[in-house]
Amino acid sequence: MNDNQARRLVVLGTGGTIAGRATQANDNVGYVAGQVAVSELVAMVPILADCPVDVEQVAQINSKDMVLSVWQALAQRVAAHLDRPEVAGIVITHGTDTIEETAFVLQTLLMPSKPVVLTCAMRPATALVPDGPQNLSDAVAVALHPQASGVVVVCAGRIHGALDVAKVHPYRTDPFGSGDAGDLGCVEEARLRMFRPWPQAVSRGTHDAARLRSLMRVTALPRVELMFSHAGADGEMVRALLSHSPAGAQRLRGIVVAGTGNGTVHDDLLIALKQAQARGVDVVVASRCAQGRVVPHPGQPLPDSAGLSPVKARLALALQLLES
Ligand code: ASP
Repeated sequence: MNDNQARRLVVLGTGGTIAGRATQANDNVGYVAGQVAVSELVAMVPILADCPVDVEQVAQINSKDMVLSVWQALAQRVAAHLDRPEVAGIVITHGTDTIEETAFVLQTLLMPSKPVVLTCAMRPATALVPDGPQNLSDAVAVALHPQASGVVVVCAGRIHGALDVAKVHPYRTDPFGSGDAGDLGCVEEARLRMFRPWPQAVSRGTHDAARLRSLMRVTALPRVELMFSHAGADGEMVRALLSHSPAGAQRLRGIVVAGTGNGTVHDDLLIALKQAQARGVDVVVASRCAQGRVVPHPGQPLPDSAGLSPVKARLALALQLLES
């Protein structure tokens, strides 16, 4: 055991396929996510036998059903453990569907100087060949690495940065990509080979506590809707949103449009988006292309997402509105 392995790790469980159970071992899609306790997952990973570890079940959900209250509970537990000097890093087990959103929220809010490593699986724990145990083992290797910092996603031996990672395949066991930015590195036999620097971190301390407080004091994120521009997009959806105000519903604060190509938007949709802007709604355009980013240019009709994917641009705008 080296010095780093002697340091304490925290593993937080939130559910997902990594904790999924199917009735048949050869059923890789008809399972129920979020069934197996994170303590059972940890018990399957030999690397953790040599390492002092605290294990907590923060949630037990299918991550497609992610809600603010789970993010709040998770962010609060992550921040509390980051503050413990004996903790080297944190591993979070999570579903693959929204792992990129949770990673983005945690990185944007906390910018932790210690590693916060999210991991997952594409096959349930009961599968003939579950991928969860190896992914968890790799995540532990990353969390214990002396230079590791920031929020990353580890899956299929690849290390992805929170700002770049996206789920790009619904079935294969290596379902994530980091687009043009590329992977941060890889894990081979519990050793890391890095290609790029770790995500940006706060320069001192363990995390950014001020931003976390802004998330903890609300019961809902500012309402930011996400829509596509596409052939025939006529803006009716925008007008419906603007006129829809049932009692108790949150006022519409923002719209993110996944535009065609370089963030272009159908003329008819653009008219409606300009009406939304005139009513005080923030509008941001991202690209619906799987790779690349909107290349900004003078005179573009809408502000762009600065390279963020549509789902991350939605969160960035909601978090920004939270602080305004
Ligand atoms: N629906 C599952 C989830 O995101 C998928 C997975 O974990 O792969 O929780």
